[in-house]
Amino acid sequence: MKSIYLTEAHSIFRNSVRQFMDKEVAPFADAWERDCRIPKEIWAHMGKLGFLGISFPEEFGGTGADIFYSLIFLEELARSQMGGFAAAVGVQQFVATGAIFNQGTSALKERYLVPSIAGTKVGAICISEPNTGSDVAAIQTTAVREGESWVINGAKTWVTNGVYADFYVIACKTDREAGAGGISLILADAKTSGITSNKLRKMGWHSSDTAELSLENLRVPASNLIGQHGQGFYYIMQTFVMERLTVAASSVGCSFVALEKTLAYMETRQAFGKPINRFQALRHRIADLATELEAARQLVYHAAWLHGQGEQAVKESSMAKLLTTELSNRVMAECLQFYGGFGYVEEYPMARFYRDARVSTIVAGTSEIMREIIAKVVIDKMEFPKIPSALESESATVAEPVTGTETESEIVASSLADLMRSLAKRHRPERTEGWKGLFHFKFKDSANPMWTVLIDSNRCQVSEGLSGTPDCIVTTSEAVYLAIEQGRQNAEMAVLTRKLKISNMGAMMKFSKAFKRVTT
Ligand SMILES: Cc1cc2nc3c(=O)[nH]c(=O)nc-3n(C[C@H](O)[C@H](O)[C@H](O)COP(=O)(O)OP(=O)(O)OC[C@H]3O[C@@H](n4cnc5c(N)ncnc54)[C@H](O)[C@@H]3O)c2cc1C
Repeated sequence: MKSIYLTEAHSIFRNSVRQFMDKEVAPFADAWERDCRIPKEIWAHMGKLGFLGISFPEEFGGTGADIFYSLIFLEELARSQMGGFAAAVGVQQFVATGAIFNQGTSALKERYLVPSIAGTKVGAICISEPNTGSDVAAIQTTAVREGESWVINGAKTWVTNGVYADFYVIACKTDREAGAGGISLILADAKTSGITSNKLRKMGWHSSDTAELSLENLRVPASNLIGQHGQGFYYIMQTFVMERLTVAASSVGCSFVALEKTLAYMETRQAFGKPINRFQALRHRIADLATELEAARQLVYHAAWLHGQGEQAVKESSMAKLLTTELSNRVMAECLQFYGGFGYVEEYPMARFYRDARVSTIVAGTSEIMREIIAKVVIDKMEFPKIPSALESESATVAEPVTGTETESEIVASSLADLMRSLAKRHRPERTEGWKGLFHFKFKDSANPMWTVLIDSNRCQVSEGLSGTPDCIVTTSEAVYLAIEQGRQNAEMAVLTRKLKISNMGAMMKFSKAFKRVTT
């Protein structure tokens, strides 16, 4: 297919992945599905061919290829004819190893990322728990620092690669009271005592070992903390766009394979003296599915292109995940129908495709959560701050904090009223010359809940109450705002965890640069 995103080199790569899947994987689909596991050797085989480090830099054994190679790989994984295989490989390359690459120490990268790319180690990401999935901030697994170790206790569930993994990236509460801000990511080697796994029996994805894990006094070296303490939620968010694109591209791939097989079947199956692909009632449904699928694929490519350009693609990746997974379920249901009774038996692949597609609207954020995110953008005009990954860090700049500047003023502000009034004195006119902006601040739980700040070129006026038509409305609590201004709370994290709502992120970015910070 000709595309503005894809080159001849992409096509060559697609063919090589397709050949590998057709020859080395698909013939074993029935066996691996029956055994409910993927043999270790296939990981190493893929590693040797460079299929497990497509987006990682060469220094770690990867290829450092553009994002469309990853999408093509994910689409072609569907040729394995096992949703479970595609999931296991997708999680390993695009989810479990993401935080290690972005935030891990060189030692962790050497011990876990490099072998993951080589296919000699398999990783798992452990966020969901028996009592919480969508609400990541509510996890209860704890990690307590004891000398040079973290001691982890709790339970995880739905862990892809959870039984046969060599290492686990575990989201833990290192500060139980701090909500999302108390989550840290800690790596545990599977050989460590204290981890018990139990393989779950599922409706589909049989070849993928999904497990519940019991973590009992699991003691790992303090150096296994990934990145900074308390930043785990932020790191998880950092990989969300790619995780959604992973599921979206896989869903597109599976749907195209299902459609292709169904078309071949319809050509040979006869009814009433002719192939069933001659019946208009079926032809129009195929035409609709093919059209929607092509449109959905283009949305995935667009979202991926934005992501590859270093743009924030939260809305587009959520839309792509929602659209492709819901569509994939419809494609499978329709294709199964076109197979008639043969769609319902295991001799043909449709029954498996149908079962496997079902989970796509649940994993990596449910359809309901995708709709919540999209609604926040299109209705509430919420803008998500950019969280660059290590892959983008050379080209992208780290988002500036929403408030505060690199220089401190002499002003100490301990109350909200002091803080707001001090804005006029902390204003840096050289930063706002020729620019005008009206800001409304709304503070919950405050004796002085409403404030208006007008920046008009080199002047800043602050008044209590709301006046004028604002360019930007900031809604938060007094405690959160004070913590941000005093440098105790990360502003981006506050936005991500909904503690701070900003109606116009562009205006707020300008605002944030216009003031000296209070002295802490
Ligand atoms: C096969 C499989 C593999 C998985 N692999 C992994 C993995 O490797 N690692 C991992 O950490 N997790 C994994 N998951 C977990 C998956 O991410 C969660 O199942 C998913 O996030 C949903 O969480 P939940 O199951 O707890 O559902 P819940 O969060 O309990 O949701 C239940 C229902 O309520 C809806 N709901 C919840 N909140 C809202 C809201 N605010 N508005 C509207 N509706 C809402 C949901 O959409 C859903 O329909 C896997 C799951 C499966 C089934």
